[in-house]
Amino acid sequence: MRLEDKIALITGAGSGIGKETALVFAKEGATVVVNDLNEEAGNQTVTEIEANGGNAVFIQADVTDPTDVEKLAKTIIDKLGKIDVLFNNAGISGVGQLHEIEPEQWNKVMNVNVNGVYLVSKYVVPYMMKQKYGSIINMSSCIAEIGLADRAVYAATKGAVLALTKSMQVDYAKYNIRVNALMPGTIYTPFVEDYVSKSANPDATVASIKQRQLSSELGKPEDVAYAALYLASDESKFMMGTPFMIDGGVVNGKLT
Ligand code: NAD
Repeated sequence: MRLEDKIALITGAGSGIGKETALVFAKEGATVVVNDLNEEAGNQTVTEIEANGGNAVFIQADVTDPTDVEKLAKTIIDKLGKIDVLFNNAGISGVGQLHEIEPEQWNKVMNVNVNGVYLVSKYVVPYMMKQKYGSIINMSSCIAEIGLADRAVYAATKGAVLALTKSMQVDYAKYNIRVNALMPGTIYTPFVEDYVSKSANPDATVASIKQRQLSSELGKPEDVAYAALYLASDESKFMMGTPFMIDGGVVNGKLT
């Protein structure tokens, strides 16, 4: 199995991409630490992993709360002895043009999407440095590479995560820690379902999403989960500081 004997922490693993990745990692032999703010959703992920014969534990923590996050990292070390893989996946959306966004909303999206990556990494990295091993996967987005309407704060957070990924990689390479970023396009998860259902014309919204990509389908959580699996495993040992696109051709393809 591709992640045999590995301990993997996935933040925001109660839903969408994080949940699917937790299921895939467990199937490949990892013991998965399922983190989420939402206790019920996190426990449901663990139940599904155990039903498939895998190993997982749920630890509730808010990735924006330093006390929660320090405790999260320490609990994993106390109970499981190491953290091989950290997938900084938890994130929230933010819709609107810059002038429409109130400071409170701006700060909230920044807090979860950027500070969350900083904080969880801050408390996990020292253990990885000590064990001289680790793979960190940061959730960016293909939006970090392109301009997309109505996503000012969200794009700013994902650009920050990509820049942070490269900087972290330089600092921690000497500890045998790899740091890479995932750059998904539109992946049909509750996160996108919510955005589509609240739009004025949901069918037109889905059609316009499809129009900007080469694939005729929207992405699925498993499309990103398998990219995360590759980055988590030692198969990707020569990938360092890389933005890894899984976007149905949004960034690198042009239809006409
Ligand atoms: P989702 O809403 O389905 O799942 C996100 C999970 O994160 C939820 O279970 C939520 O409870 C949890 N979470 C939110 N805030 C948290 C916090 N403060 N602490 C701990 N957990 C918290 O979303 P998704 O679509 O699976 O997105 C996951 C990640 O992928 C996000 O970072 C998102 O920005 C990124 N992403 C998504 C898409 C997409 O199209 N779905 C595309 C590119 C990037």
